[in-house]
Amino acid sequence: MIPLMRPFVGEAEVEAVAAVIRSGWLTQGPQVAAFEQEFGAMTGAPFACAVSNCTSALHLALLAVGVGAGDEVVTVSHSFIATANAVHMCGAEPVFADIGADGYNIDPRKIEPLVTARTRAILCVDQIGMPCDLPAIVAIARAHGLKVVEDAACAAGSQIHLDGAWTPIGHPIADVACFSFHPRKVLTTGEGGMITTADPEIDRRCRLLRQHGMSLSDLARHTASRVAIETYDEPGFNFRMTDMQAAVGRQQLKALPAIVAERRALAARYAVLMGAITGVSVPREPEWARSNWQSYCVGLPETADRDGVMQAMLDRGVATRRAVMSCHLENAWAQARHGGLEQSERASRTHLILPLFNGMTEAEQVTVADALAHALAAQGRA
Ligand SMILES: *Cc1c(COP(=O)(O)O)cnc(C)c1O
Repeated sequence: MIPLMRPFVGEAEVEAVAAVIRSGWLTQGPQVAAFEQEFGAMTGAPFACAVSNCTSALHLALLAVGVGAGDEVVTVSHSFIATANAVHMCGAEPVFADIGADGYNIDPRKIEPLVTARTRAILCVDQIGMPCDLPAIVAIARAHGLKVVEDAACAAGSQIHLDGAWTPIGHPIADVACFSFHPRKVLTTGEGGMITTADPEIDRRCRLLRQHGMSLSDLARHTASRVAIETYDEPGFNFRMTDMQAAVGRQQLKALPAIVAERRALAARYAVLMGAITGVSVPREPEWARSNWQSYCVGLPETADRDGVMQAMLDRGVATRRAVMSCHLENAWAQARHGGLEQSERASRTHLILPLFNGMTEAEQVTVADALAHALAAQGRA
């Protein structure tokens, strides 16, 4: 069986967790602080705040930029449902803009017609690791006095070309960026998230709200030489990351360049193998973007039975997943306002995600390509 994804973890992570357990300090403490510092340095963001997962990161980031009850947030339907749900958690409404014909990210031209007096922010996504057109999105936001929150859940290690240099996703281009460390992503801590920003006030709000609105962190009280009594000036959440997770994250961060380099090589080989199959469209990076290839997503002809192809591949021992969902096709978000979502629906309907994991062999990639070619041929499509 060729799996869709396999987390790239090993003895370094095992040792790091064991050391944390032996230390006696298990939750948000020195390891979280060090992970934040190192993640900030990797992205070039002055502030990085670790949290329990990316959904809580998005929730806090939206609150921190001022999204609240009655507001609207322009985002994509074409994303994992957590994107829209995070807007809802703030008491605001997501308004869905369509994606571009590339099949991944928000079409900046579709944003402006959806902006109303109630719009507070744009929540853009670097879908499956492919950077969205941040400069264009930020320009629209500035013209309308909106904040930009970037759902970079999948995009640790992705890059965008900016001012003549390759710049890591998480660098403060948007007002705030949010990452996921779920095992389905490229850098994992089991569960976990990170919020990066250049705005000290956004960082302060996120730190306060992730820990019950508590004026002093546990670590600050623990290391204080005088008795320190904390205060609670507003209601908050418990969105803490544990030190065990952060210790794993620090090891993952060291490996990230090698993890991404290998994924890019695997994607390049897939482009050749898949490009040779009639009717299959392969993903392409715009010249200003470098994906971490969190997922490798290919398009099938409109006439193909996508789910039938997936079943035929599974019968040959190849796991696949449907492509990125469209939230408005789920009951939870069927009523949301939108500006037409043809490209989102087409991409969700016609695309599928192929196995791609560190350590994948050339033989395994060939097996995947053969399984796809056979499945399409059996349907009379290739
Ligand atoms: C995975 C994912 C999330 C949610 O991340 P969690 O860490 O599981 O909460 C949000 N948005 C996108 C685009 C994702 O792919």
